[in-house]
Amino acid sequence: MSDPILKIQGLVKSYNTGRPNEVQVLRDCDLELFAGQVVSLVAPSGAGKSTLLHVAGLLDTPNGGLLQMSGKNMSAATDRVRTDMRLMKIGFIYQFHHLLPEFSAVENIMLPQLAAGSNDRQARARALQLLDKVGLSPRGNHRPSELSGGEQQRVAFCRALANAPDLLLADEPTGNLDPETSDHVFKLLMDLVRSTGMGALIATHNMELAAGMDRQIRLEKGKIFG
Ligand code: ADP
Repeated sequence: MSDPILKIQGLVKSYNTGRPNEVQVLRDCDLELFAGQVVSLVAPSGAGKSTLLHVAGLLDTPNGGLLQMSGKNMSAATDRVRTDMRLMKIGFIYQFHHLLPEFSAVENIMLPQLAAGSNDRQARARALQLLDKVGLSPRGNHRPSELSGGEQQRVAFCRALANAPDLLLADEPTGNLDPETSDHVFKLLMDLVRSTGMGALIATHNMELAAGMDRQIRLEKGKIFG
């Protein structure tokens, strides 16, 4: 069997390390996530979901334990290697879209591709193809402020997938939307993920959505269960 896309073992993450008010968020986390596997992460607010996603997404560094991506040790990797990995292999979706307001939908999706070395024509073609998949072809030239919440989030999905990552990490990706829009947009996200064969770790409060994923994990007292 091939290496998991993401493997964490004995992962530890604290804030204010060494101070009397140290917050130990992740105490001893283990997880293996494989290509094509969609895993839900459910836990109450403050349990450490965002922390786990940020550490797994190489946006933050752990204080201990093992973090591997496709068999490569990321705990000991240089900043350059981690940045490249983040750009080429990981897509991140937040609760709020975080699109750049002064750029159009197409341009927002082009930016990570240009950073990864695509030329303008390739990046635009890929952006248009992704927008088509989420039903937003006619809105490509619109800026985020001219789009609805659901549309903004669909553009953010396209941006996260722009460089065809192996791993998608999503932090309450539809948490900001009304229930009806949320269901529609979430289904779109699942279709996108399934059509690529990437692995995904998706934090959600919605038990129904979580139940539809391949595996459900939860965070309790800094450990992963499930
Ligand atoms: P969740 O996403 O499950 O709501 P978080 O990962 O955001 O939880 O936070 C987990 C805990 O870590 C909380 O107690 C939070 O206050 C604490 N925390 C998060 N980020 C920091 C930080 N930068 N410094 C100190 N404590 C933090």
